[in-house]
Amino acid sequence: MKIAVLGTGMVGRAIAGRLSTLGHDVVIGTRDAEQTLARTEPDWLGNVPFAQWQQDHQAVRLAAFADAGAHGEIIVNATQGALSLSALEATGAANLSGKVLLDVALPLDLSQGMPPTLTVANTDSLAEQIQRTYPEARVVKSLNTMLADIMVDPARLPGRHNVFVAGEDAAAKETVTGLLREFGWPAEDTVDLGGIRAARAAEMYGAMTFALSAAFNSFDFNIAIVRA
Ligand code: NAP
Repeated sequence: MKIAVLGTGMVGRAIAGRLSTLGHDVVIGTRDAEQTLARTEPDWLGNVPFAQWQQDHQAVRLAAFADAGAHGEIIVNATQGALSLSALEATGAANLSGKVLLDVALPLDLSQGMPPTLTVANTDSLAEQIQRTYPEARVVKSLNTMLADIMVDPARLPGRHNVFVAGEDAAAKETVTGLLREFGWPAEDTVDLGGIRAARAAEMYGAMTFALSAAFNSFDFNIAIVRA
């Protein structure tokens, strides 16, 4: 499929790279492609400059958000969550209309240092803000509860563990679940949390993610649900 992955960070790269390896036609969206390719320093998380990453992923093209959005039959939002609405505005409502929008972002506020707080929580979520702003888009929240490398390769962790989906559109959730299956997520480990409102819980788990990462000194873990 033609897929637009909005975001040049480690999540955008992980998802775009994996989708491309799986045979999808992937364009990564960024604010300004020339500027992004001109970067020579690692990003704030220590990831290599984008141009260096792209040398190993030449099938993945880089384009401005709007051009990427026009390309994608499915759109993945992997932009900095506090600024995702701005990235989606640049992508353009017409390029989102009717499309499945897989939202992976966390609305983190890092302005007070670690651990971050959320810019929206409790009574609202980023995914709901996106769905309200783009009612014609078919928003599905998923994958935001784990490290990028685990999103696209669940087998890197031992045993069974879980991924969540939330959204209003059942067919859109099926499309996303299909992509998750391609990444290696078995249906029985994919938990449907219901409507987009459940994105509040999935995003607020972010607080627990950072608490656990401080305890483990690593983000390389995931949730495994144990039930009676
Ligand atoms: P990130 O650094 O959080 O986001 C990078 C992207 O945000 C870039 O594409 C950047 O655009 C865009 N961006 C930054 N400022 C912007 C602005 N003012 N307007 C529009 N776009 C802007 O990258 P990440 O670590 O890959 O995370 C992506 C998302 O996934 C985040 O919401 C994060 O919280 C969430 N998440 C991350 C992980 C993880 O493992 N890192 C796990 C779970 C969830 P340019 O390309 O133009 O620079």
